Amino acid sequence: MKKIFFLILFTISIVGWSQTINDSLKDKNILVVYGGWQGHNPNIFGEKIAEWFLSKGANVNVTQDTEIYTDKAYMDKVDLVINHITMSEISNEASRGLQNAIASGTGLAGCHGGLGDSFRNDTEYQYMVGGQFVKHPGGQIDYTVSILDTNDPVTEGLSNFNLHTEQYFMHFDPSINVLATTTFTGVHDPRINGVVMPVVWKKTYGKGKVFYSAIGHSGDLFDIEEVWTLITRGATWAIR
Ligand SMILES: [Zn+2]
Repeated sequence: MKKIFFLILFTISIVGWSQTINDSLKDKNILVVYGGWQGHNPNIFGEKIAEWFLSKGANVNVTQDTEIYTDKAYMDKVDLVINHITMSEISNEASRGLQNAIASGTGLAGCHGGLGDSFRNDTEYQYMVGGQFVKHPGGQIDYTVSILDTNDPVTEGLSNFNLHTEQYFMHFDPSINVLATTTFTGVHDPRINGVVMPVVWKKTYGKGKVFYSAIGHSGDLFDIEEVWTLITRGATWAIR
């Protein structure tokens, strides 16, 4: 009997969450900009997240040209930007356009190098995101993602999970709101043994909300339930 009651509660909470998501995404204007270093196959995440937003009733615009950020009249209508561009470069005008949009209330979300390693010479961009990739010691390794706050709507109901991929070592802003971390073992660099590093965070930039997840080196990772749940919930949270 207890089990059935729990199952009913669980089902209600899942239905409740998906209802909330559908309501909050309907007719929202989402801009997905992907590109940069092809080693990250940016089209995989770019197209997948675009399709997901479309399936929730949002209006989605996908482009590979960062100059769209210079179009202020358009950017004023965008509710969320997914920036997914590893390294590469951005013009001063485009970077300022993106920063002004986020500061004015447009949300910003993304993952891995697509948001946390874009435009390496652009420090204001890094300040906006809240962190910058610097190294992934050992390359493809096994590690655990620890969920810190299970009361947050982004991490609610999630448990710690294991991955085999790049463990991002980042320079990060101490004021970010960290939702998940990973701990370095020191196997690949004894100096960082025991270092606890943010994996998932949220923050603000002016009036805009910013969400980041460090997971996303390869397309298969987005088929892992926890990984996809984090990025879609985080992106939803960041919407204007
Ligand atoms: Zn990578």
